[in-house]
Amino acid sequence: MRETFDTAAAAICEVGRRLLAAGLVAGNDGNISVRISADAVLITPTGVSKGELCPADLVLVDMQGQVLEGTLRSTSELALHLAVYQAAPHIGAIIHAHAPYATAFALAGRTLAGSRLAEVTECLGDIPLAEFAPPGSRALAEGAAEAASRHNGVLLAAHGPVTWGDTLRQALYRMEELELACKITAIAESLR
Ligand SMILES: [Zn+2]
Repeated sequence: MRETFDTAAAAICEVGRRLLAAGLVAGNDGNISVRISADAVLITPTGVSKGELCPADLVLVDMQGQVLEGTLRSTSELALHLAVYQAAPHIGAIIHAHAPYATAFALAGRTLAGSRLAEVTECLGDIPLAEFAPPGSRALAEGAAEAASRHNGVLLAAHGPVTWGDTLRQALYRMEELELACKITAIAESLR
């Protein structure tokens, strides 16, 4: 598991830098996790910029959220990550960001339903909107988990997007594609 741990830790730090560089998070926003075994998830801590993460900052927890390794406190959205993994065991990684266009859709209570964009119809599929629930709440975790087995992500109403995939790279690509599709749709609508 050590090798998986080290590889996953390095990948999470790299994805964090990429999210910040792309403007998909600001401040301490967002959280990233990788399931490294049936009963262990490596997740980002609370209070650290995703662009400044180092492997020692990450927290290893079991599926009940008990800390196995790490000195920092895990993200306040730990319950959401665990609920998604529990609902869909094939999922290997999860990203939550405040990608501005996808978050604007979530704030407006909209989805990309009916979009004819290739990245939506061929890659992302239907990304549903989960009813509003306070950040860090059990209801928010349940809303995301409901989408886990049939979708590639979810828009948390008035909050922002979550994407997941078999690998962290796939979850990242889906976040990038979701953001771009929301951006293009918003631009297209402004041209009507
Ligand atoms: Zn958030």
